[in-house]
Amino acid sequence: MSEANKTPHLDPAWGIGTRAIHAGQPPESVTGAVMTPVFQTSTYAQPHPGAWPWEYSRTHNPTRTALQEALAALEGAKHGLCFSSGLAAIDTIIRALPPGASVVCGDDVYGGTYRLFTREWSRFGLNFTFVDTTNPELVIPEGTALVWLESPTNPLLKTSDIRAIAEKAHAVGAKVVVDNTFATPVFQRPLELGADVVMHSTTKYLNGHSDVIGGCILTSDDALAARYAFLQNAVGAVPGPWDCFLVMRGLKTLHVRMERHQASAQAIVAWLQGRPDVARVHYPGFGGMVSFVLKGDLDAATRFVKATHLFTLAESLGGVESLIELPAIMTHASIPAEVRAAIGLDDGLIRLSVGIEDLADLRRDLEGAFAAAAQA
Ligand SMILES: *Cc1c(COP(=O)(O)O)cnc(C)c1O
Repeated sequence: MSEANKTPHLDPAWGIGTRAIHAGQPPESVTGAVMTPVFQTSTYAQPHPGAWPWEYSRTHNPTRTALQEALAALEGAKHGLCFSSGLAAIDTIIRALPPGASVVCGDDVYGGTYRLFTREWSRFGLNFTFVDTTNPELVIPEGTALVWLESPTNPLLKTSDIRAIAEKAHAVGAKVVVDNTFATPVFQRPLELGADVVMHSTTKYLNGHSDVIGGCILTSDDALAARYAFLQNAVGAVPGPWDCFLVMRGLKTLHVRMERHQASAQAIVAWLQGRPDVARVHYPGFGGMVSFVLKGDLDAATRFVKATHLFTLAESLGGVESLIELPAIMTHASIPAEVRAAIGLDDGLIRLSVGIEDLADLRRDLEGAFAAAAQA
C-alpha cells in the first residue's frame, strides 16, 4: 500500500460530519480495528531494500496519514500535512517563500503569528506589511507573494471578504493563506472561496479537548503541497502518532461540538448585548468565540476574569470547557501597546471561548463575575 498510489478513503458525496468520522479512516486492514491504531514506531521493516513506502516516521506515519487525509477532506483539499503545532505549520508556509518575498498580513492576527513574522522571519529579508483586511478598499500591491488572512480575527472577531481578497491577490500573482482556526471547516471553507492554502492550529476546535498542541496545512495546489511536504520532512516539525490519534478522536465530534458552541455563544451574545454594564460586544454571527468590553477600568475587567469558576482563566480556546482571558495581558501581550491601541484592542477587552457545558450554568457563572466586577 504505497501512500502515493493509495486512494484516500473518501466519498465526495459525504457531508462534513461523515468526513470527520470516516475520511482517511477506514477500518485497519490487518485486524479490522475500527479506530486507526497509534503506529508508535520510528521505522518500518522493509521486505526488500528501498521497496517499501513506509521508511521512517518523520517522513510518513500511518496514523499521521489518516489524520492528514481526514483534515484535507474537511476543508475540501487534495493535500493535508500535519505539524507539531499551529506555529510550526505557519513557519512552514513562510519558509516556503523565496528570499526577499513580500507578505501582506492582517493587522489583527494571532499574537504568535505576528511575533514569528516580525521578530524572526523579518531577520531573513522577508517583508511584512500589516493591513486592515476587513477594508473593502484594500489594495494588494504588485509584487506581493503571499496574503495572510485570519477571518474571523482574534480577539476582535472581525471578518474579511475572502473571495474578494483572493481575486485581488490572484490578479497580482499572490497566493492567499487563511488561518481558519476560529471558524473551522464547519462554518467556513476558504478553499471554496478562492484561497490557495488553509492552516489550522489543531490545538483548538479540531482537537477540541485541550490536550494536544498541533497544526496542519491543507491545499489543492500540487506544487505548494510538494514544497510543504519537502519541508515537513526536511525540517522535521512533525506530530507524534499519539497526538495524531487524539486529534482524530476529537475530530469525530467536531460538527456536533461546533453546533453547541455556536448555540451557546449566540445566546450569551444576546444576553450580553442587553446588559447596561457592557460597553461593546464582538461576535461575527457564527462560531463559539465572543469578546466584549466591560464598562469600567482594567481593574474591573481583572476582577471579572478572576471571579468566574466554570470559565477557566486560561489562554487557548476551542475546547469543550469554557475559557476566559484578557488578551492585552495574556494572548496578545507580544503585540506592542501602541499597535494594540491602533487596531482598537482595548486593554479591558475580555475574550470568551464558550464551551459546551449547560448554558444556564455558564450564564450563572458570568452573572457572578458581573457582580464581582461591580464591587470596586
Ligand atoms: C493558537 C493559534 C495559533 C497557533 O497555534 P499553536 O498550536 O498554539 O502553535 C495560530 N493561529 C490561531 C488563530 C490560533 O488561535
